Amino acid sequence: MGKSQLSLQEVREMIVSASHKMIASKDRLTQADKAIGDGDHGIGMARGFENVLKRVEGQEFSSLEDLFKTVGMALLTSIGGASGAVFGTLFRGAAENLKGQDVLTAPVFSRILQDGLKAVKDRGHAKPGDKTMVDALEPAAVEARNQEAAPLDVALAAIAAAARLGLEKTKEMVAAVGKAKTLGKRSLGHPDPGAVSMSLILDFMKEYVEGR
Ligand code: ADP
Ligand code: MG
Repeated sequence: MGKSQLSLQEVREMIVSASHKMIASKDRLTQADKAIGDGDHGIGMARGFENVLKRVEGQEFSSLEDLFKTVGMALLTSIGGASGAVFGTLFRGAAENLKGQDVLTAPVFSRILQDGLKAVKDRGHAKPGDKTMVDALEPAAVEARNQEAAPLDVALAAIAAAARLGLEKTKEMVAAVGKAKTLGKRSLGHPDPGAVSMSLILDFMKEYVEGR
């Protein structure tokens, strides 16, 4: 049975669960970055989510703002490379309008994705179609808006599916930013590693909310 909303403590558990699964995805992310980048994405993300576990597991948070800021800082200060800035900014941006909020519902999750997306775009200036994690995040944010009236489990299933579709589409894109840019057309046929991470993070959140 899925959950229609999460308490602050459950959101913390969801982050812990997703972190463990991201760490376990290290080799897959490394392979994706070896194909079109320098092969460090899996190592960086695993290191980042190890640090998230250190700062989040068993800790008390005063609000979702406090929790998401902590996750963002943990990623920002430990990953390095482009994705440290990008995924750190995503979670810090997501915290922007969560002051005093301690329940996660579909409309709150939508706000998190809208604010996170805006922060990532403001910082990295990647446009949709540039073959970055934005190509998974933006469709997820759009779908989150469509799902605001739904229970959280239903919304997250649709959001994760939208991100997955966005990820698949990155295979047909020529990289326009980041390390893969130098490959030009040779980046065709491969998914963007950061988009793989973005899709996985949402999948793992979905799995927690579904009770898996
Ligand atoms: P690096 O490129 O420094 O080796 P990683 O391999 O860890 O860093 O991460 C690469 C990923 O970062 C890319 O696959 C892409 O999704 C993401 N990325 C890079 N630059 C940007 C940007 N300006 N905006 C959004 N995402 C970006
Ligand atoms: Mg890399």
